[in-house]
Amino acid sequence: MKLLFEKSISGRCASILPKCDVPMAAIDSSLKRGSAPHLPELSEIDLSRHYSELERRAFGVNNGFYPLGSCTMKYNPRINEEIASLPGFTDIHPLQPESTAKGCLEVLALAERYLCEITGMDAMTFQPAAGAHGELAGVMLIKKYHEARGDYKRCKIIVPDSAHGTNPATAVMCGMSVINISSGPDGRVDLEKLRSAVGGDTAGLMLTNPNTLGIFEKDILEITKIVHESGGLVYYDGANLNAVMGVVRPGDMGFDCVHLNLHKTFATPHGGGGPGSGAVACKSFLEPYLPSPIVSKGGKLNYSRPETIGKVKMFYGNFLVILKALTYIMSLGSEGVVESAKLAVLNANYFMSRLSGAYSIINKGLCMHEFVITMGKEAKESHVSALDIAKALIDKGSHPPTIYFPLIVAEAMMVEPTETESKEALDQASDMYIDVYKSAMSNPESVHNAPALAPVCRPDEVGAARSPILKYTGKW
Ligand SMILES: *Cc1c(COP(=O)(O)O)cnc(C)c1O
Repeated sequence: MKLLFEKSISGRCASILPKCDVPMAAIDSSLKRGSAPHLPELSEIDLSRHYSELERRAFGVNNGFYPLGSCTMKYNPRINEEIASLPGFTDIHPLQPESTAKGCLEVLALAERYLCEITGMDAMTFQPAAGAHGELAGVMLIKKYHEARGDYKRCKIIVPDSAHGTNPATAVMCGMSVINISSGPDGRVDLEKLRSAVGGDTAGLMLTNPNTLGIFEKDILEITKIVHESGGLVYYDGANLNAVMGVVRPGDMGFDCVHLNLHKTFATPHGGGGPGSGAVACKSFLEPYLPSPIVSKGGKLNYSRPETIGKVKMFYGNFLVILKALTYIMSLGSEGVVESAKLAVLNANYFMSRLSGAYSIINKGLCMHEFVITMGKEAKESHVSALDIAKALIDKGSHPPTIYFPLIVAEAMMVEPTETESKEALDQASDMYIDVYKSAMSNPESVHNAPALAPVCRPDEVGAARSPILKYTGKW
């Protein structure tokens, strides 16, 4: 496919600007550029076709099954986008007087109220722009809490090996050292290991729940108790709240703070590097440390926060993402929120049970919103890897699941169907998964070069890592 620059024909143009009806201002020549900018010149229809062609080459949730584990690439109802495009919300400026943005402050206050209700927490900041960013803010709260009590020796964060990779990275970013504890045979936190890891130097524990194996930590009350008794705080990675929202609350399980990925669970599409929100909620004793400003109970912005950890992002966070989350929660209602979590779990379990005849599933018993397959044996014995299956699925019209994550499973494939898929869609997709498995196992060669039908076929992964071509060369 050619670039817009290659399609450019000198003199073509797509803009129809009205005639200038005011006198031209004299612009000082020192401010003018020497030559015209190098921009592609195309007619409107050529431009329109170019973007439609690009769109056809991409695979989105509107194109088909998109079971990307740990990422919750779910279908987000259009109403959320519609509300977020209302001019009253888009035509505002973060520096305009507070008295002229009452509606927007109300959005922040209401979103905080609902999300605190859902998490069982007391206060919230929307400043962090991503999940990992929320973790950073959350661990900074924990650090500040210990420092404010003059307890400077607490410099260790415990992270189970079933945590999301951002958890240990966050702790290190915060200047903490990481104590990694390995999971028990059931994929859950090993309580004995946890007991021996905690001590007077424990700042806290970061727990991803459900963990990256899609398993709910059934000993969660014991886990938070062990950490609290050692004087540490407990952090809940709630990026995947999709499985539990409205059913159980981190606050009730003993957690002190939690981040949510509004761009996973709460209606903003995840991925593509778009605006996100890693909103952080905490118990009231941590509220004084939250980034400034917060929306006070009276719906006013409160900047007088002497103990704050400071700003982690400009202004109030990605406002329209927060608005979409609020719209999502209000349109589902309290029953809909619960229903959505239950369906996410039901769909994952249904899909898992359909696949269990063919694939080796890691989860013993029920999973939460996602489950993990291992292709370890097949890769060794038959030369069919997780990568081969993932690539072959592309030819069948499905987005592949997450592969090679979590790291604690050999040749992992992590599948998250999400709540909006119907039984028919799940039946069709599981037949497709089983088909691909069977044909791969009977003829491994057939999948080694898959996909054959995608715009980009199997890239040379070693070559891409060792000698990347980072500049467009005119052939794609
Ligand atoms: C996605 C995810 C994160 C990181 O979120 P980003 O917005 O990508 O930074 C953290 N923890 C878990 C469990 C996740 O699934």
